Amino acid sequence: MSETIKYLLDESHLPKFWYNIAADLPSPPPAVLHPGTRQPVGPDDLAPLFPMALIMQEVSTEREIEIPEPVRQIYRQWRPSPLYRARRLEKILQTPARIYYKNEGVSPAGSHKPNTAVAQAFYNKEAGIKRISTETGAGQWGSSLSFAGALFGIEVQVFMVRVSYDQKPYRRALMETYGARCVASPSMETNYGRSVLAADPGSLGSLGIAISEAVEVAATHDDVKYALGSVLNHVLLHQSVIGLEAIEQMGMANDYPDVVIGCAGGGSNFAGIAFPFIGLQLRGGRKVQVIAVEPAACPSLTRGKYAYDFGDTGCMTPLTKMHTLGSNFMPSGLHAGGLRYHGMSPLVSHCKELGLLEARAYHQTPCFEAAVQFARAEGIVPAPESSHAVRAAIDEALKCRESGTSKAILFNLSGHGHFDMQAYIDYFEGKLKDQPYDQNALDKSLSALPVV
Ligand SMILES: *Cc1c(COP(=O)(O)O)cnc(C)c1O
Repeated sequence: MSETIKYLLDESHLPKFWYNIAADLPSPPPAVLHPGTRQPVGPDDLAPLFPMALIMQEVSTEREIEIPEPVRQIYRQWRPSPLYRARRLEKILQTPARIYYKNEGVSPAGSHKPNTAVAQAFYNKEAGIKRISTETGAGQWGSSLSFAGALFGIEVQVFMVRVSYDQKPYRRALMETYGARCVASPSMETNYGRSVLAADPGSLGSLGIAISEAVEVAATHDDVKYALGSVLNHVLLHQSVIGLEAIEQMGMANDYPDVVIGCAGGGSNFAGIAFPFIGLQLRGGRKVQVIAVEPAACPSLTRGKYAYDFGDTGCMTPLTKMHTLGSNFMPSGLHAGGLRYHGMSPLVSHCKELGLLEARAYHQTPCFEAAVQFARAEGIVPAPESSHAVRAAIDEALKCRESGTSKAILFNLSGHGHFDMQAYIDYFEGKLKDQPYDQNALDKSLSALPVV
């Protein structure tokens, strides 16, 4: 099986190409619409926000897109990322299942996000861009882009959701260490931020508000572009290095996964590990069971509506068809900040509609329980987001124990939890609450979806 992708890798097993699932899908995902005219957008409509090379990747249907050598040079610092067999965990669970995990926590910023941050910074640099504006929730994306900006000499301005800005000073310090400028959002630096503060001076902010601010800065400055850390097709494309390496590494282990699992916020690390396997299946390879795991407090894939929606609260981004909770939906208290987004990647949503993947939602307490069990067996402390994938992998392994079947289970450990130890402290002190989403708030938010 690994022969089918060998040509994509070099002699050190580092991918030479990214994999684009759009080439293999039986039908294309629905068109992206302009927020004003509600007509399909063309590359020129996106030009104020992104460099043209990334826009062309966004709309590409080529199966393989070459990774530029300067990007591969940087990837080499931590890629190929290691794939481990969790033998001690298997033993503790007394499962006949074979559990494998890909560790994306080994990147300098501690998650999978530099895979796309480095690529995006490279293309912006090529296009002569001086500054990139972006948003960050818990801070993983902001720190990844700050790292990438430092390597290419690009200024990075990060709008950080107010509540995280106050609660997570270490992430902010990391961004500033890499040389970025970090502003609490809503801020006084944009028209949108000022309007939010005028209505609610104590606003704690949200990812949707921060995206509106970052987009506004890019849209109103010629030498500033915007970068998004998930959701978009080109982001998922860059993350395909995870799955391409995993196919090769599973081959080295003489195995092939029956089940592939990833946690899903905007869908990028999940797609990163899963799409290359789905691609093989679509081209006649073995069928894999693919599971996207999301938090029960922000359940876009399992409880959202498949509809056109904005990516932000200020209704400035293009409209995409996706599983959404509505752009005004405010998830309740939840430690996995990276999984708080109201929408889902259009490509992941489309694959769900095509029956190529399934989705599952978990409350945070059972996820932390799984993360602690994993840490005590394997030594790696998962990020709260990644703990959702750990939970699902353990549950699948326990099912194998009950039924006496031996499956190969592969999951993506999207990042380490070293910056999230407060969440672990709260868990140990019994302070974590499993708040379900508020159905009334969800109904209200969904009733306000844009009419297309
Ligand atoms: C941001 C983040 C996520 C969620 O984002 P996706 O685009 O869904 O991958 C998951 N895990 C970690 C560690 C993250 O930093």
